[in-house]
Amino acid sequence: MDLQLSGKVVLVTGGAQGIGAAICRAAAAEQAVPIIVDRDERAGGALLEEIGIDRARFVAADLAEPEQCREAVTRSVEFFGRLDGLVNNAGTNDSVGLERGTPERFRESLRRNLLHYYDVTHYALPALTRSRGAIVNIASKVALTGQGNTSGYAAAKGGILALTREWAAELLPAGVRVNAVIPAEVMTPLYQRWLAGFTDPQEKLRSIVARIPLGKRMTKTEEVAATTLFLLSPQAGHTTGQFLFVDGGYVHLDRALT
Ligand code: NAP
Repeated sequence: MDLQLSGKVVLVTGGAQGIGAAICRAAAAEQAVPIIVDRDERAGGALLEEIGIDRARFVAADLAEPEQCREAVTRSVEFFGRLDGLVNNAGTNDSVGLERGTPERFRESLRRNLLHYYDVTHYALPALTRSRGAIVNIASKVALTGQGNTSGYAAAKGGILALTREWAAELLPAGVRVNAVIPAEVMTPLYQRWLAGFTDPQEKLRSIVARIPLGKRMTKTEEVAATTLFLLSPQAGHTTGQFLFVDGGYVHLDRALT
């Protein structure tokens, strides 16, 4: 299938590492031009070199700051005078629980995980409307399944799913499609940091993998990227307001299968 993404300009937040980096690599492989927006300048620079400086762009920004969201979008649109796709992906599972968190840390978690999805989309909207582009929001199973000790991240991811349907409705007249991708267990730098917080990370990993129905393995970043690119592409031209789970059946299949 030709995804017809050649020459399309796609902004990927948190695009320097993990799932975002896989989306950028996949976009470049489809001859699209990924714009990597990330606060990690070292990782962003390395990925830009890997993809090729003429085939991608990097913008350094901490998206927890609304002004940096605005600047990052402005710079991204200026590169080619257009924007065809937006992937809201930057986020971090920061373990702000009900008991072990504080109201201040809860608000901070929403700033890191939710508010910039709105800010970046708001600033990107004029360009996306001009191109009748597409938006993909990366959410998490935690929005739907609960995990414990992660109120901020869960609230943010639940909000992201709500905004996906809300924006899909609001942007119908503009022809801008909005969908969400929901991963569960994907080995990335973020996941490695989360695992490292357990007394026996390897044992924790083994116990999780044993419960993933399809293949008893982690989802690959490339698998999340492939679904994301499909949703960005004209091949998904009549798909909007949808949640696509890329999780090996983790959320929906019968517990007996695990
Ligand atoms: P990752 O490995 O930490 O990569 C995310 C990238 O985004 C990092 O380069 C990170 O920089 C950057 N970033 C984070 N917050 C940022 C901010 N405020 N401004 C600019 N850049 C920022 O994470 P990942 O595992 O690929 O996760 C990507 C998305 O998938 C997240 O939304 C996450 O919630 C979601 N997700 C992941 C999993 C999983 O199993 N991995 C499961 C469900 C959902 P730093 O290194 O400086 O933090």
